[in-house]
Amino acid sequence: MFDKKNRWIIVSNRLPLEVKNDEIIRGSGGLITAITGIDSANPILWAGLVPGEDIENDYLASLKKLKDKIQYHPIFIKKKEYHKYYNGFCNDVLWPLLHYETEYVRYDLSNWKTYIDVNKKIARNLSTLIAKDDIVWIHDFHLLLVPKFLKKIKPNCKIGFFLHVPFPSYEIFRQLPMANHILEGVLGADLIGFHDYSYLRYFVSSVRGVLGIYPTKMQIEFNQHQTKLGVFPASINYQIFREISKSQETALLMDKWKQSSFEIEKVILGVDRLDYTKGIDLKLKAYEVFLEKYPQWRGRIQLLQLATPTRTEVPEYINLKNEIDMAVGRINGKFGTANYVPIKYMFNFVTPSELAALYAHADVLLVTSKRDGMNLVALEYIVSQNNDDPGVVILSEFTGAVSHLSEAISINPWNIYETADAIFHAINIPLSEKARKNNIMKKFLFNYTATTWAQRFMQELEAYKVVDQKMRHISSEENIPLEIQTAIKNHHNNLLLLLDYDGTLTPIRSEPSKALLTLRARRLIHKFAITQKVDVCIISGRDRDFLKRQFENYNVYLAAEHGAQFYNKSKGKWMTLVTDHKKKWYASALKIMLDFANMVPSSYVERKDYAICWHYRNSPVEFARYQAVKLRNELEELMRNYPVNVISGKKVVEIKDHSANKGVFLRWFLNRYDFSDKAIIAIGDDATDESLFKELNSNKGITIKVGAANSAATYRMDEHTDVLWFLEKIDQML
Ligand code: UDP
Repeated sequence: MFDKKNRWIIVSNRLPLEVKNDEIIRGSGGLITAITGIDSANPILWAGLVPGEDIENDYLASLKKLKDKIQYHPIFIKKKEYHKYYNGFCNDVLWPLLHYETEYVRYDLSNWKTYIDVNKKIARNLSTLIAKDDIVWIHDFHLLLVPKFLKKIKPNCKIGFFLHVPFPSYEIFRQLPMANHILEGVLGADLIGFHDYSYLRYFVSSVRGVLGIYPTKMQIEFNQHQTKLGVFPASINYQIFREISKSQETALLMDKWKQSSFEIEKVILGVDRLDYTKGIDLKLKAYEVFLEKYPQWRGRIQLLQLATPTRTEVPEYINLKNEIDMAVGRINGKFGTANYVPIKYMFNFVTPSELAALYAHADVLLVTSKRDGMNLVALEYIVSQNNDDPGVVILSEFTGAVSHLSEAISINPWNIYETADAIFHAINIPLSEKARKNNIMKKFLFNYTATTWAQRFMQELEAYKVVDQKMRHISSEENIPLEIQTAIKNHHNNLLLLLDYDGTLTPIRSEPSKALLTLRARRLIHKFAITQKVDVCIISGRDRDFLKRQFENYNVYLAAEHGAQFYNKSKGKWMTLVTDHKKKWYASALKIMLDFANMVPSSYVERKDYAICWHYRNSPVEFARYQAVKLRNELEELMRNYPVNVISGKKVVEIKDHSANKGVFLRWFLNRYDFSDKAIIAIGDDATDESLFKELNSNKGITIKVGAANSAATYRMDEHTDVLWFLEKIDQML
């Protein structure tokens, strides 16, 4: 199955290790059992944060003593930084928001900055470890930006990401001030996995709403990088839970439970972290309604609620604990007697055997989570049931586990009356029916274990084909690559520069008219234009009037509208290069586009000579996007017999003469003028520059892509500011 022996690098917030009596031992978390259970010979390296001051030497020394087939890679971080990143952003912003609890969100700009820094730091650290063919699997919401940062440094590395918590609907997600950064961050991954299909669908609609991208099927293309999406519900280790539940220790503990509650006929169990997402308050209310409605069960039924402590120092959690304490006290006061305690409440952790005894002892497991990525407790309960007298699961429909547990009684926890009736129903189900239900689910969990989950994810990630980015990186932190220097020197410093405008010489602006050259760029182009050795040609989608205004006083060639019009600097004249007469299509296309401009507020039509653009960057987003799709369809349908291309760009739909193409222009330009004595360098950022790169590559020129996307170019730069740095460096060389 996994025939290659490449390394798997697992990345999680913390390492799955515990320090016990100064000794480091492997922890027992679900993720590590899942991964180590996979039958593969791939070496595993696990990376994660280790917070603390001046602990590196001691920690590494202890780690050396750990004998494990997994190799561990600690990334050390100062406690204060960890606190801001983990508590300040992961737990105070992402956790509540991803669980729909927006009123708990505490947004602090400096914590967000720390989150970015820590994610960057992890990516940088990982990049020093990654060898060719290594596969990286990043886990959970703490590390949402790592995929992007890592992909930037290691474009050929295969990166998977799994979200262990829910992904909320677009209407919730869009409230996050940094929603776009989060999505862009995680889209650096090649494969993103979710527990449930609904999480995947909400993710897709958020990408559409926030980033304005229209994902197709199970795939998202962003910055020309493909991200596959998949549903991989997590599971548990069946064998481990069976073994614990059958152990002697568990049997003894179970007897103890039975003795301590011998007058109780039915036990309802709740096992939850004391977190607001778990809906313990709703559970108590529903139980109260049950005791009201079915008084015959008073004195015969007990709710055994285990609440494990979490974030106990945080005010919201202290308040929650007080509320639960009060509700338990109130209900016990209301229905309790000298011999009867309706709710047995424990606020602590229990050992695995104690938990298994509780699972086996209880007749019903009641899960009332308001939102829960998966809820492993429900799965563990099913596997721990005794075949002679299995229990029943009442499960909130807002958990990921509903997609696994077909035979659980599904409830909406907000409907406390329905839950009360579900308790009544559950305790009255005949044994044969309980056994039937439990067998179906147990069988499923026997075949679909935590290891199956991890294996499926890794198989899909292995199968992903990373488009090999052979582009070499040009960075202002290094020097100009030697090959480029040599090419220029070999041509005695004679040079032809082919430069795109928007996104290359200037940043992309929301108002195109404001994307003007800076003084620094002007000076540089002027300097080039006056030397005899350098020719500059600006090749842009902009119309000739705009380019004329920008470059009026410079001795440069201009190619407007993707090469439809050309300005010959020696003659000082414009000429038209496209041959097809626009009359055939222009008027009818314009009419359609003007109609759309009237319909969509703040949208407008830009008339170029050989192209028409409908811009909607300032229009109401959703409505305009919908209309953009309609416009594109309409134009494609009505213009299909004309020599035109319809292109959707960033908040623009453009129809243009099909021969207005930068590649076609370059072929003409190089035929028309003799540049054989010059080194030729082309720089561009947009999809329209690709034809230019392809044409120049076949003419042995140097092609440079600005931005992270895949490209036909040989080199890449991160952003437009690097272009000016690069051009200045060249200027110094000449
Ligand atoms: N658990 C535990 N000790 C306890 C109570 C619970 O180790 O005293 C474990 C339980 O076995 C389960 C996990 O905590 O594996 C809870 O996982 P779940 O997905 O239900 O909820 P989460 O706490 O991850 O939101």
